[in-house]
Amino acid sequence: MFDTKAYSATSETSPLASSVIARRDPTDIDVQIEILFCGVCHSDLHYARNEWKDVLPTMYPCVPGHEIVGRVTKIGPAVTKFKEGDIVGVGCLVDSDRTCTSCQAGTEQFCQHMTMTYGSMDKHTGKPTYGGYSESIVVDEHFVVRIPDNLDLAAVAPLLCAGITTYSPLHHWGVTKGKKVGIVGLGGLGHMGVKFAQAFGAYTVVFTTSPSKVQDAVRLGADEVVISSDPAQMQKHAGSFDFILDCVAADHDINAYIQLLTVDGNITLVGAPEKPLSFYSFGLIFGRRSISGSPIGGIAETQEMLDFCGQHNITADVEVIPIQKINEAYDRLLKSDVKYRFCIDMASLKSE
Ligand code: NAP
Ligand code: ZN
Repeated sequence: MFDTKAYSATSETSPLASSVIARRDPTDIDVQIEILFCGVCHSDLHYARNEWKDVLPTMYPCVPGHEIVGRVTKIGPAVTKFKEGDIVGVGCLVDSDRTCTSCQAGTEQFCQHMTMTYGSMDKHTGKPTYGGYSESIVVDEHFVVRIPDNLDLAAVAPLLCAGITTYSPLHHWGVTKGKKVGIVGLGGLGHMGVKFAQAFGAYTVVFTTSPSKVQDAVRLGADEVVISSDPAQMQKHAGSFDFILDCVAADHDINAYIQLLTVDGNITLVGAPEKPLSFYSFGLIFGRRSISGSPIGGIAETQEMLDFCGQHNITADVEVIPIQKINEAYDRLLKSDVKYRFCIDMASLKSE
């Protein structure tokens, strides 16, 4: 084991603060990575504050961060995909059983025994995993992805979670030219959803509670923008959407979106608010509509998404911050005050 600097929370009410954590020494198939940038996902905030206590109670101390971009500093002797100096990414997954049908199919996100980048038990050490708000991380090479060399690294980091979490369901539900797609909530996930829906050729409508984001939504690729608190604007779209991606991090009325779906239309939830959501059965019954959820994506699909982003020059819109501003960033995230993803420049951790 070796020590590495990190920012961690010690309880649901304590702010994140400078600390030192232990990482495992690289095994034969591990890659050691110096972290250059780490995006700030709303899941980091939910987890640090134990907001998912009913389903995924937080283990403290916790080090959030699963939108990691860094440089390989060491490799185990059996590593074949990477060499020292490579620029690589790590998302929400760092291990899985590799034998179940999901792993065999390359959909590790459905593995019953997956290890999350933070908040899981590390199979090698028997200790909790710690995320990317840190100097370095050690990961099995299978869970490490290549970063296209034409993209800005700070703006790439959010692709590792916000990117794949929106790319995967848009693909799965057949979003292409000729489809009408809604993206609800223009935050970290939502703004990537708009970029992908537009790149896939769909007619894309953004639903926002923030009038200040309307112009940006159009710049990001929206064909139309709806202020979701205005019933008249919502009603105009009743029964017309093939697919809606709900990226909202807080409690909200999903019935308002279900009634916008066409026959056999689907609304997929990627947002994971603290409290349960409720909906009327009739909203689904009439129109044979469906509601589903979607978690991140597998490793192969994450690589596919990154390559797609390289080819189409797609990255996140980021506000780069030093780690010392992380608590302020969380407060702003709660006010939907970020355009559209905070990304930590990990060089700032060196001075701690
Ligand atoms: P974020 O940047 O905070 O964006 C959330 C957006 O939701 C806000 O920008 C805001 O958009 C909208 N919103 C916030 N409060 C609202 C309210 N009370 N009513 C209606 N809309 C509201 O968060 P994020 O990082 O994109 O994450 C979004 C959610 O996805 C989180 O719950 C996160 O945990 C979850 N997540 C899930 C996965 C997965 O695998 N499924 C992966 C990553 C994250 P407007 O200002 O446009 O209204
Ligand atoms: Zn995330």
